[in-house]
Amino acid sequence: MPDNTDTCPCGSDRPFASCCEPVIHGATAPSAEALMRSRYSAYVTGAWAYLRESWHPDTRPSRVSPTNTDWLGLTILKSGTDTVEFIAGFMEGARVMTLHETSRFAQVDGHWRYLDGVCDVSEAARNSRCPCGSGKKTKYCCMKKSP
Ligand SMILES: [Zn+2]
Ligand SMILES: [Zn+2]
Repeated sequence: MPDNTDTCPCGSDRPFASCCEPVIHGATAPSAEALMRSRYSAYVTGAWAYLRESWHPDTRPSRVSPTNTDWLGLTILKSGTDTVEFIAGFMEGARVMTLHETSRFAQVDGHWRYLDGVCDVSEAARNSRCPCGSGKKTKYCCMKKSP
């Protein structure tokens, strides 16, 4: 769990304590993007109960199974009223993977909830930008860190 002064895992450059943490603890997300960011941070910090709660009741799984995915970073590509397109990077063994998803959100009683998403998972190309959001090529970034 990051401490109060740590930069938020969602890549906002704001402290976790004033970005995603309050939303994970029950504050109302002001936008679909804010909710999406908080859900990414919840995956990073292991807030499984919150992940289930922030799911839309129509599509909510009976339980969210904990994973120990090694997330590399989040980049928001396009943020609409109720859709957010993003790229998230993660490690799968020694491979740098890119998750490209367009998520849909809907409001329930004034709270944004995650409805569903269309996602595409692929191995990051060596010469394309690293999915961690550093702006560097993958081969000079997260690929180098792998064993
Ligand atoms: Zn955040
Ligand atoms: Zn990287």
